[in-house]
Amino acid sequence: MPSKILKLGEKNEDPGPWSTNILEIGTVGTRKKPCPLCGLWFAEENLTGMSSLKTVLTLKVKWGVKGAQEKLTDSNMTASRLYTGVNMCAFCAQLTMPDPDDEDDAEMFANSPQKTPKKAPKKQEVEVKASTFLQGFLSPEAKSKYK
Ligand SMILES: [Zn+2]
Repeated sequence: MPSKILKLGEKNEDPGPWSTNILEIGTVGTRKKPCPLCGLWFAEENLTGMSSLKTVLTLKVKWGVKGAQEKLTDSNMTASRLYTGVNMCAFCAQLTMPDPDDEDDAEMFANSPQKTPKKAPKKQEVEVKASTFLQGFLSPEAKSKYK
C-alpha cells in the first residue's frame, strides 16, 4: 500500500524516489488457469467464455485429440459432470457456438424454434436491356441487335 496518495493537481514535495507515493491502480489477479479447449494459460478473469464439458470433449474428439474419446465415454463421467459449465477463453468460446453451415449442427437448427440466420438469396444476373427510348436514337442496323 502506498504511504501517501497524491490528489489531482497536488505537487509532490518530496523529490523522490517515490516508490511508496504511487497512485493506487486496479490490479489483476495473478491466478491463471488453462483454457479447457486450447490448453493455453489465461488469467482467470480472462476466461470469459462458458460451455459444457461435453461440448469441449465432443469438439476434441472431432479434432482427433488423443484421449478425448476415452474421457467422453468413461464410465466415471456422469451426466452432471458432462454438463458442468467450464470457463474458456474468448476465442474458443466462439468455436462452441452452433454453426448453421455445419452439417453436424444443422439438425440442432432444424429442431429449434429459434430462427436460424437466413442466407441471403443468390443475386440473379439481371439481363441488361437497352431502354426502348434510347433504342430510338440508334441506327437501324444497331437497333436490330436488340430484337
Ligand atoms: Zn481457448
